[in-house]
Amino acid sequence: MENIQHISSGPLTWSKYDVVIVGSGPSGVMAARTFAEKGQAVLVLELGPVASPGAIHRDHQAPYSMAYGARGKLDTDPWTACCVGGGMQFYDAITFRYRAEDLTASRFLASDMEIDWPISISDLSEAYSEVESLLRVSGTSGHPEFQLSGRGRQLFASLEELGMQPKRIPLAIDAPGEASGCISCSACDERVCPIGAKASILSRSLFYDEGLSGSIDVRYGIFVSRVLSSREAHIDGVECFITFTADILNIPASKVILCANAIQSAAVFLRSSSIHIGQPTLFRSGLIGKGLSFKISGYSTGYVGDIPSDFDGPHAGPHATVFSDKFYSHADVPTGLGGMIYEANLPTPNENRKLLRLHYIAGEEPWSHNQIELTDSLDANGVPRLKISYTNSQNDLDRINFLAERSEDVLRSMGMINIHREPFQHGKATCSSPCSSRARSVVAVKAGRSSGGRSAIPAAPV
Ligand SMILES: Cc1cc2nc3c(=O)[nH]c(=O)nc-3n(C[C@H](O)[C@H](O)[C@H](O)COP(=O)(O)OP(=O)(O)OC[C@H]3O[C@@H](n4cnc5c(N)ncnc54)[C@H](O)[C@@H]3O)c2cc1C
Ligand code: SF4
Repeated sequence: MENIQHISSGPLTWSKYDVVIVGSGPSGVMAARTFAEKGQAVLVLELGPVASPGAIHRDHQAPYSMAYGARGKLDTDPWTACCVGGGMQFYDAITFRYRAEDLTASRFLASDMEIDWPISISDLSEAYSEVESLLRVSGTSGHPEFQLSGRGRQLFASLEELGMQPKRIPLAIDAPGEASGCISCSACDERVCPIGAKASILSRSLFYDEGLSGSIDVRYGIFVSRVLSSREAHIDGVECFITFTADILNIPASKVILCANAIQSAAVFLRSSSIHIGQPTLFRSGLIGKGLSFKISGYSTGYVGDIPSDFDGPHAGPHATVFSDKFYSHADVPTGLGGMIYEANLPTPNENRKLLRLHYIAGEEPWSHNQIELTDSLDANGVPRLKISYTNSQNDLDRINFLAERSEDVLRSMGMINIHREPFQHGKATCSSPCSSRARSVVAVKAGRSSGGRSAIPAAPV
């Protein structure tokens, strides 16, 4: 698309823009569209390049600066993915909505922070419908339900027998047989769809501004170091460097929206500690970077052994098609608030032979001691590296163990032997696994509900 270009591809007239958005992921694109719908000229600045069709996730995450984790080692990944479109280019297209209990979680969870949202699910329903329509989510807005995978059908039947309320996952993937429908090229996870069947910001042309009264320009290959402000309640612009040339560039702007993911948005704020934005208490409060929360999640795998079964073959097609929400909120779950259990196939088809892998997942308790901070150590571009401190609460460990046990009940009921629970890696600050990259962190820029971490529209943790 013509409006998505490398920052060095030509000069821009900065005075043209009403608003600068940092980050081109799902939060950034929805913010950009919202302003452009109101007639504003929007400039989106993105660090990473355009990821090619078929590209894999690690190539758009591993090359970027790591952060210090809990053990003091430089082993923690603070990015979802660096590219135009952000993590959504590589996601699994699972598009659950949040539920009422997620927005009023203080009824269930403990925290030393404010965790309830000042909005209700009904306030969000119109926005959810708009996004589902843009992404063509299966089972919504007249789009057909996605067919279950072969192993999904087996799982569905077993969940039903156990009274676990199986359902089809809402998937932002065009169904096989539709124009540009899924061709089951792989097991889908961590891959840019080569044919655009999986909805992403690029495959659904969400930056396309024709029909919007304003305009959107996206420039990539540029890192925003900090927000500039010379006086109280006034933004001057952003200080950036061009990764290609290492040139430093100041872009004037009176409105800056940080959509750089929860960790990186807070990092921009922390690097901008001298800014005099309209909420000086935001900085004095010391809240920025605190209350980091990801998702409690884990995987259990059952193996079928040598006996011939429906799980002998490879798996190709969506990462997951079936879920159970029986324990989303349930009296048996520690605290009463649980989460989802669903099929979670491994990224390459053959890895899935002779096994079934289940994922269990729920939102976490935010605690102020879980946080990101700047360190004195500089990365190759002279940017202070981040330190991520993180420990799970006992409530969260009890909740995830409960969901793991229920998932393993399911695998046993399907005749699986040799059930293996992958070590929980949701103490993200201790690892650099993809689980950390999927962090849907809620970095606490709670004062004034800044855009510091939440996506424009909350989605249930995946
Ligand atoms: C493999 C994988 C599978 C997933 N599956 C699902 C799923 O099925 N369903 C689901 O709901 N979620 C899924 N997720 C999570 C989802 O992708 C993220 O929650 C989502 O992308 C977060 O959106 P965001 O806009 O907040 O941030 P991001 O997507 O991280 O976008 C932020 C962008 O900002 C850029 N950026 C950061 N700092 C700067 C800076 N200083 N200057 C310039 N640019 C900057 C980054 O390069 C990035 O492109 C998955 C994630 C991964 C990695
Ligand atoms: S499995 Fe289907 S949706 Fe996923 S990447 Fe391949 S073609 Fe696209």
